[in-house]
Formats: sequence, structure tokens, C-alpha cells
Amino acid sequence: MTHLQLTPIGTSPAWYNHGEANSGFLLEVDGFRILVDCGSGVIARYLDLFGTDRPIDAIVLSHVHADHCFDLVPLKFGIGIGPLADWRPQLWLPPGAPERLARLVSAWDADFSFFTDTFDVHEFAPGTDFALGGCSVSSLEVPHYVESFALRFDHAAGSFGYTADLGPTPHVAPFMAGVDVLLAEAALAEHADLSAPDRGHITATEAGHVAEAAGVGRLLLTHVPEELGFERAVAAAATQFAGPVDLARSGELVPVAQVIRSAS
Ligand SMILES: [Zn+2]
Ligand SMILES: [Zn+2]
Repeated sequence: MTHLQLTPIGTSPAWYNHGEANSGFLLEVDGFRILVDCGSGVIARYLDLFGTDRPIDAIVLSHVHADHCFDLVPLKFGIGIGPLADWRPQLWLPPGAPERLARLVSAWDADFSFFTDTFDVHEFAPGTDFALGGCSVSSLEVPHYVESFALRFDHAAGSFGYTADLGPTPHVAPFMAGVDVLLAEAALAEHADLSAPDRGHITATEAGHVAEAAGVGRLLLTHVPEELGFERAVAAAATQFAGPVDLARSGELVPVAQVIRSAS
């Protein structure tokens, strides 16, 4: 039996909810471990949950914002000079990310070899799927303040979608059509000015609308600022989405494959 399961590692917005790391989500496919985003605090929390003997096989970044990529740095040192010497994760980057990451580490006079020395680096391209742990991975560029890519993982046993950080777009629901579990950001307050041009986030209500339009099996919300109220966010999403909706919680295992079995 194939095991396809998600474990949120960090679910904070760009700052920290109480005791929570920034964005990072572990997708496991028959023991192959894919970390989707690697924001501040994610590796510390991962090691807290799993110890050092469960190497991450691959990391996929949705975009180069601090809350989605900063823990690549301590991970690099954990592998290079720390206790993670036998780890050699693939690192799948969105278009433009190598240049942005190179600029980031130039602060301490490093260049992009800072990453290629440690990670098996690849760049994905929207419209071209790539294979990872038996999944076909596809990406969709979404509106945000930098290039950001929604990600979809399709496996024979089930499917998982992640909106990444995004502003409103009619393209994300068709892209996520029928996924068993949709992890959607809901960073924006319901009372925010929704007419603001070029906004880079959505509300929980809008996340629920995407889930309903896409016909997903289950909706998990992430990137929700604690001060907006977690229960309020779940309730807002539920006004739009008729299926199960919950908050993504660090360390709480979500079976993806079982969702498809129970729905069929
Ligand atoms: Zn973010
Ligand atoms: Zn962002």
C-alpha cells in the first residue's frame, strides 16, 4: 500500500505565530521525504519532530521570501559541518530563484556555490512537470510580490496541492482541480481592502472559494496570522467550501491517500 501523507512543519505567516516556525510542509511518498518550502525555524522544528536520522530527500521552494526559504542556510551548515553529513537533498527552485538566493548570500560574500556545494540543485519551469518520489510535480505562477508558484503533486495514490503565497487569480482553481488535499494560504484579514491592486495574499473566504471551485477533498489553511483568529479563519473558509476544512497544524499528520479512498 502506498503511503502518501502530509505533515505541516511550520505554518506561521511572515512573522511567528506562538511557538510556530514559518512555512514548511513535509510530503512523504512511500518514505521519500519532500519538504515543500523551508522558512525560518522549519529545520529546527523538523529536527525536533523527527531527529537527525530521517533525511529530507528533496526540497521544493514556492518562492524566495524569507518565510519560505531562510532555513536553507542552517540546513546547509547542518549538512556541511553539523550532524546531517549524510543528507544530500535535491533542491528544486522556481525560475529566478538562483539569482535571488545568490544575492541573499552575497551579504556574507558567498555566491550561489553556497547552495550547489551542499544541495543537488534543479530549477523547475512552469508548464513542465518533473518527477519526485513517484509524484508528478507541476507548477503555476501566481500573483505575489516576487515570482511565486503554486505547486501540485500527483501520485497514483492521491494528490496534494499548495497555493503558495498568492493574490487572487482565476487560474489557481482549475490548476488544483480535484486534489485530495489543498493547502491554501489565508494571510489576509477579511476586513482588508480587497480592491487594492497587486495584493499578494488572499483571505480565508477566498481560500474556501478556491477549494470549492476546484472540487478538492479537504482544505487546510496556513499562513494565518494568529491575531486574526484561527477559528474565525476556518469558519470564513467554510462559508464557501462544503467539504472538510481545518487549520494546518505543526506535527499533525494528514493522510492524503486515505482521503481519496474514503471519498471514492
Ligand atoms: Zn509567506
Ligand atoms: Zn511570500
